[in-house]
Amino acid sequence: MSHFDTFVVVDWSGGNDTGPTPRKDAIWAGVSRGGISDPPVYLRNRSEAEAWIAALIEAELAQDRRLFIGFDFPFAYPSGFAEALTGSDDPFALWEWFEARVVDAPDRNNRFDLVAEINLGLGDGSGPFWANGLPNRDIAGLPRTKAGYANPFPDKRAAEQRAKGSFTCWQMAGAGAVGSQVVMGLPVLSRLRARFADHVAVWPFEKPDAQVVFAEIWPSLTVGPAPDNMIKDAWQVQELARQLAAVTAADLAQMLDGEAAEEGWIFGLGFEHLLKAPPPLRNDCFALPPGVHWTPVDEALAQLRARLHPVTPVEDVPLAATLGRIAAADVLARRANPPLPNTAVDGYGFAGGREAGAHAMPLAEGRAAAGDAPGALAEGQAMRVLTGAALPEGVDTVVLQEDVTIDGRTLRFNGPVKQGANTRKAGEDVTAGAVTLRAGRRITAADIALLAATGTASVSTHRPLRVGVLSTGDEIVEAGRTAADGQIFDANRPMLLGLVSQFGHQGVDLGHVGDDRAALRRRLDETQGRVDAILTSGGASAGDEDHVSALLSEAGALDLWRIAVKPGRPLALGMWQGAPVFGLPGNPVAAMVCTLIFARPALARLAGQDWPEPQGFDVPADFSKRKKPGRREYLRARMHDGRVQVFASEGSGRISGLAWAEGLVELPDAAADIQPGDLVRYIPYGSFGIT
Ligand code: AMP
Ligand code: MG
Repeated sequence: MSHFDTFVVVDWSGGNDTGPTPRKDAIWAGVSRGGISDPPVYLRNRSEAEAWIAALIEAELAQDRRLFIGFDFPFAYPSGFAEALTGSDDPFALWEWFEARVVDAPDRNNRFDLVAEINLGLGDGSGPFWANGLPNRDIAGLPRTKAGYANPFPDKRAAEQRAKGSFTCWQMAGAGAVGSQVVMGLPVLSRLRARFADHVAVWPFEKPDAQVVFAEIWPSLTVGPAPDNMIKDAWQVQELARQLAAVTAADLAQMLDGEAAEEGWIFGLGFEHLLKAPPPLRNDCFALPPGVHWTPVDEALAQLRARLHPVTPVEDVPLAATLGRIAAADVLARRANPPLPNTAVDGYGFAGGREAGAHAMPLAEGRAAAGDAPGALAEGQAMRVLTGAALPEGVDTVVLQEDVTIDGRTLRFNGPVKQGANTRKAGEDVTAGAVTLRAGRRITAADIALLAATGTASVSTHRPLRVGVLSTGDEIVEAGRTAADGQIFDANRPMLLGLVSQFGHQGVDLGHVGDDRAALRRRLDETQGRVDAILTSGGASAGDEDHVSALLSEAGALDLWRIAVKPGRPLALGMWQGAPVFGLPGNPVAAMVCTLIFARPALARLAGQDWPEPQGFDVPADFSKRKKPGRREYLRARMHDGRVQVFASEGSGRISGLAWAEGLVELPDAAADIQPGDLVRYIPYGSFGIT
């Protein structure tokens, strides 16, 4: 396990002092201490930054806190360079080499001259460094452009080859170049390391068990675009510090568990999914505006929709494994479908349409079959083509083989044949670059076909949501055990686990606990790290034995939502150690209805899915029913002969009605007097994603 109290991310700069006003391309530092982020710190030049970092290390050491500092520039060069320059492949020898030679003042430094000297020392001055950033002074030994450039070393380190979009450290100037940052950064690292020699370890060259760990980081690996009005560098350091602080100690240990190597490594490379885990929900995310007593269903849903956000990490998954996963980002077609114009039938292809009447054309040698690279056809000729074949150049029309006769080498048929007949145009299905999958969609088999056809091999998806299901109450016994008098079998847990799995999540059976607050607390505590959300049933009201609500309320994170719905009791919504808890009513009918209406969309949102709105249908009633205004009502229902029937009893304990039903009738909040034949809203179970 690896625990740090404080995470610092430093965005470095190789240039001169950028003045007192915070701006981009300067040095920025982000600090997250004990999980709380400070506003990003602007550091106008390197000596100010070095002093600030040294003071911070001293303060953290004095407080006995463990500190992780990430610097966003390479700690080493591609292999072979250190040895060539210093005679040793020890990266710290290289650090000291630069420390001894770099001259750094706020308004001037010798970085371009120094790397020119290196170039000349190692060869004829045509590499490895290039790009002179001084517009008014040519420097012998430092090429301005890559013309004539020669590099005896690898252009990139192994880490950079893997980190898409990262820059080579040989380029000293130009947009995105990091060469100057390395030259101007290593001396600072070298001094800090010497100054805090007993306390600093540099990862991955040294074991990261010191109180202060330095590591090379690269924010672009995991940090997305900056919000509007925020300087990109400021955003990146703040956000990466937050991401680092959110990683569990066990995951950090795994990320730090790397071999020492001459070239170093970018911390987090290969573990992007751990850093990109979404921020947790807030403890007060279910707090309702005060003074509201009975919340209408639509308002409750709008509240849930607004307060919840995806909590599952995102990972790239090979296409074949994406069925049922939720897309985390839009996917664009890499290739058009069809990629080339092709023939939809077996027949004969030629150029242009033909009028009514008899036609004869010479038949060219050969044929075009599916998979053949498209050939060419001389004008006025026809060629044999087979379904799916890319049209040869000079073919835009195909006549069906059933409609022709072949007479020696002559093709005969009767027109008219429209130009373009029996062919498919390139991109008529999907053009390259078109959206083939939207973020938030649960991926279907048909989606997979579309993605495959347009060249997508892997998709960024959410890891499945893990939903714990727990039953409570002294009267509850698991089916198969002996039930004493007064006890009933647990119907809710297997039902809820089934619903959760049909919703596409991963159900986690948390078993049953009696009406015992301490036992309930223990059981909930045990779930930490195993579930992303919890469904409980029973004990969610405000009575003596309603321990779910009591416990959540003790934790300061309970809200009893009194929703104007029937069947239903108050919904106890709360947070337990970062996981949202949906305290459902104990009555199976109410538990199922509340799950379909409230928990289902809420879980979808947590899982990264679009907010689902169940599709209902207006159909004639096969029943009569009066209802008072105030509460929305759901009746167990099913279709018969084009009309919708409802279950004979509305009793909330009648589980047989749930099984009899194939959907729900939804009656509006307002009063209603329904007569047979009136249209009512029927929502089939299928609209809830269940059967
Ligand atoms: P409660 O919400 O705890 O007041 O329970 C309301 C009703 O639902 C009571 O009759 C309970 O016995 C019943 N009930 C609670 N949990 C379950 C369960 N897991 N399976 C079946 N019935 C239950
Ligand atoms: Mg109870």
